[in-house]
Amino acid sequence: MKIIVIGCTHAGTFAVKQILKEHPDAEVTVYERNDNISFLSCGIALYLDGKVADPKGLFYSNPQELSTLGANVKMLHSVVSIDNKNKKVEVKDIKKDKVFTDSYDKLVMTTGSLPVLPPIKGADNKRVHFCKNWYDAQKLFKIAKDNKRVAIVGGGYIGAELVEAYSNHGHDVTLIDTNDRVMHKYFDKSFTDKIEESYLEHGVKLNLGERVQSFTGDDELTITTNKGNTVVDMAILCVGFKPNTDLLKGKVDMMPNGAIITNEYMQSSDPDIFGAGDSVAVHYNPTNTSAYIPLATNAVRQGILVGNNIEKPTTKYMGTQSSSGLELYGHTIVSTGLTMKMAEDDNVRAHQVVIKDNYRPEFMPTTEEVLMSLVYDPDTRRILGGALMSKHDVSQSANVLSVCIQNKNTIDDLAMVDMLFQPNFDRPFNYLNILAQAAQDKENK
Ligand SMILES: Cc1cc2nc3c(=O)[nH]c(=O)nc-3n(C[C@H](O)[C@H](O)[C@H](O)COP(=O)(O)OP(=O)(O)OC[C@H]3O[C@@H](n4cnc5c(N)ncnc54)[C@H](O)[C@@H]3O)c2cc1C
Repeated sequence: MKIIVIGCTHAGTFAVKQILKEHPDAEVTVYERNDNISFLSCGIALYLDGKVADPKGLFYSNPQELSTLGANVKMLHSVVSIDNKNKKVEVKDIKKDKVFTDSYDKLVMTTGSLPVLPPIKGADNKRVHFCKNWYDAQKLFKIAKDNKRVAIVGGGYIGAELVEAYSNHGHDVTLIDTNDRVMHKYFDKSFTDKIEESYLEHGVKLNLGERVQSFTGDDELTITTNKGNTVVDMAILCVGFKPNTDLLKGKVDMMPNGAIITNEYMQSSDPDIFGAGDSVAVHYNPTNTSAYIPLATNAVRQGILVGNNIEKPTTKYMGTQSSSGLELYGHTIVSTGLTMKMAEDDNVRAHQVVIKDNYRPEFMPTTEEVLMSLVYDPDTRRILGGALMSKHDVSQSANVLSVCIQNKNTIDDLAMVDMLFQPNFDRPFNYLNILAQAAQDKENK
């Protein structure tokens, strides 16, 4: 079986390893247009913040490892066209500037995503940057000290982390977002109010509810929005990602944004083409619909599924809750599934409780408050989403809620499910039990 894998960051790396584990006789060729594989973009902000000293640690594999496993790894090779009728691809050897043709029995499309470039005048200004891959990371790190005034455009997870990193290192930071709340896609107002408070305490300027209209300037950068001008030394555009799937446009089924639609075995509408990671749509369990959620969590799981299913359907995709988290100024902030705002926007019938509680008894030498939210269906009482924020590390509690959503658990299950008690860690009822009990109280009134 001759397999071509296009693109080798997370989905590609995991697919290649799993293909060779499950099918050691497969002839696997990898085409990757960059000079590196497996770069963890989540480390860019940590690298800028000095929390990661050696960026080499942000790679968990390399071309040699895949070669040793048996893959034919072609770095600095870009696939420029796909002829799926004849099962052929055209490949450009970037160093030699030569194009050649290769053929496949099965094709794996792990070409990932590209940063969204909004149609803003001057978005190609040399002082406007992106934050996606290892090349971006190196550039941002190199120019950091000479660019004191930084604007981050887009207050999602990536923008939020960059704001913290720059503000921790003496930069004047402005966060610009069209929405009137930071991280509005991931957290409801009770959480974003606290996040915004924390930014203001650290000197970050929040230009919320502002739409960027243009970038101008040479020695410095003027950002013009519908509300005025901000002058900075550099800006980073973090306004989202789009699937990098033009090579298959019109050849396989896609969502309107270009995300490849696969079945639960990661197979596209062309049975010989598989996809994984940021190039494909995911199944979003809380609403039981297809969605575009570009996360490494999805990429690595789907990469493994490609390896398992490439010969015959074997392992089904479980879908995702889009669980994610970040740490800002010492606060753990995590979420999974629907926020109340998302439920309202998607016309999903939902109720919500938001409570605060200390994670462990007050008689202990210290304790910390946990802000918690639970979103659930009031009819079936099924859990649809949740969020937590605390100075205590509550990240794993989002994973508990993720399992609850995956397994279709109700607020009644979570209210009484067995969880350990020991005063070092929690109370006789864990704070998640208490959160679900608050939801029961609300429904039983
Ligand atoms: C700053 C940042 C922070 C993030 N933090 C997190 C986090 O904390 N948690 C999380 O879960 N996710 C996070 N993500 C998202 C995560 O990085 C992506 O979901 C993940 O990289 C997707 O992996 P992928 O392999 O599908 O695609 P990509 O990472 O986009 O990789 C695609 C690869 O395909 C190659 N390629 C594309 N086209 C071609 C072609 N025609 N020929 C040859 N090669 C090609 C590209 O060069 C690239 O190497 C973050 C992303 C960013 C940018």
